[in-house]
Amino acid sequence: MIVLRSSEEIEKIRRAGRLVAEVLSAVTEAAGVGVTTLELDALAEKMIKDAGAVPAFKGYQPDFIKCGPFPGTLCTSVNEEVVHGVPDGRPLEDGDLLSIDTGVELDGYFGDAAISIVVGAASPEAELLIAVTRKSLEAAIAACTAGNRMGDVSSAVQEVAEADGFNVVRRFVGHGIGTAMHEDPPVPNFGVSGTGPVLKPGMVLAIEPMVNAGTFEVEASADCWPVLTKDGRLSAHFEHTVAVTEGEADILTPAPEHARRGGKRGLSGVS
Ligand code: MG
Repeated sequence: MIVLRSSEEIEKIRRAGRLVAEVLSAVTEAAGVGVTTLELDALAEKMIKDAGAVPAFKGYQPDFIKCGPFPGTLCTSVNEEVVHGVPDGRPLEDGDLLSIDTGVELDGYFGDAAISIVVGAASPEAELLIAVTRKSLEAAIAACTAGNRMGDVSSAVQEVAEADGFNVVRRFVGHGIGTAMHEDPPVPNFGVSGTGPVLKPGMVLAIEPMVNAGTFEVEASADCWPVLTKDGRLSAHFEHTVAVTEGEADILTPAPEHARRGGKRGLSGVS
């Protein structure tokens, strides 16, 4: 069932979303060669708890995962890891592509967003993949307006990604969000325009293109966390939580002002 949120509820989701954006901005600034993803995770957890919120990913336990609940506040997916990377003690290396995804619960409402960066010097392929993935999210958000259909959003992502020879992951998709982390409807990153549910004001969606440099196929150990590209090539991930309106979609996880004014690693291009 797709829930339509009142403007009061959307303001609560926006408060959660702002915190998510602030955390991603701080983590992005702190990331660098020699830093570990566990250190970034600790920074994120402290910020979220200090704000009186709850890290939404930590302890998350879907039925199909048998290796224990997700241990981190962040998903930190490096290089060929697509999503659900687990923070660890390995120092990040020059050229690593790092996708950072986090969600928080604040006052009963959830926000969720992700960003990809390169630590140190980026390869041309990593740079292009990140730019294209970000552009695919922007195209999806531009298509996310009342009266359009979900397929318009999905196909916008797919068209942008495939125009540069990249591929969108099929197996994992975006989702509705509100009083739970994952709600209806699913938000695929592939599809046919003019199909799917009609978008209505008050729908709140986490749109999250996962774009692979090579094949769209992914490999997950049957029952544990990290999802990898099947061919071992790079993957990037961007996500915003947005509310559908009669006009432009309302981005509830906007980049903080200081990042927009020129943070060194580019939350700036997202919104
Ligand atoms: Mg999400």
